[in-house]
Amino acid sequence: MKKNVPLIIGNWKLNPVTLSEAASLASGVVTKLKKETEALVVVAPSFIHLQEVKKKISKSLIELAAQDVYSKNIGAHTGEVSILQLKDLGVSMVIVGHSERRAMGETNKEVCQKVVTILAQKITPVVCVGESERDDQGNFFTFVEEQLRSLSEVLDTTQIKKVVIAYEPIWAIGTGNTATNEDVKEMQLFIETVLTKLYDRNTAKKVKLIYGGSVKAHNAAELYKEGGMSGFLVGGASLKAEEFSEIVKACK
Ligand code: PEP
Repeated sequence: MKKNVPLIIGNWKLNPVTLSEAASLASGVVTKLKKETEALVVVAPSFIHLQEVKKKISKSLIELAAQDVYSKNIGAHTGEVSILQLKDLGVSMVIVGHSERRAMGETNKEVCQKVVTILAQKITPVVCVGESERDDQGNFFTFVEEQLRSLSEVLDTTQIKKVVIAYEPIWAIGTGNTATNEDVKEMQLFIETVLTKLYDRNTAKKVKLIYGGSVKAHNAAELYKEGGMSGFLVGGASLKAEEFSEIVKACK
């Protein structure tokens, strides 16, 4: 994954309700970003909307992501969706370990199993890390370090370079409390330092880092310029084609 190409992923979460709304949101994004060639733009609709959204984006450079995946490929796993099924639909990235899934009990170990399963199919995992709150002692750094360490237990240097890490402080997600440019920059440096310890400096520099947490059209340009990350994972603001496209265009 090229580090100098901004990556902006729209995580639609459990939105919208209908297939036609999802199709028209996808078409809106395509129209607004017709001339965008500098950034890699990805949309992550619900599983049930993937196929229709794929049709709408198929003539554009926009790529398709899933919001989660199961760690097994096939078999007796009622209600799950596998990476083979996602691959067949044309998904190129999968978000893993989003805090909203971790809040439902997903562990670091399960996240790691999913990442290995995704990489085996040559698809890019977007692994979310981030603390629920900040403290003056900086314990949140240890928390993020632990999430990264668990990845290093299953991924070698070649594999980690194929992963995107999304730093998403939970307190910033959907709250409007965007992390400051300084907070984001500090975490970018911290993650690179941890990856250098766990792997090596060359490897750490190659892992793409993005930020997520209340990124909006009005704060994207500064966050991108000052925060040191290579792009954004966008929730709420990705549900409006106009605002999402402004965020993409701000990543210059
Ligand atoms: C997210 O859910 O990944 C996210 C970043 O949401 P929001 O942009 O709404 O904070």
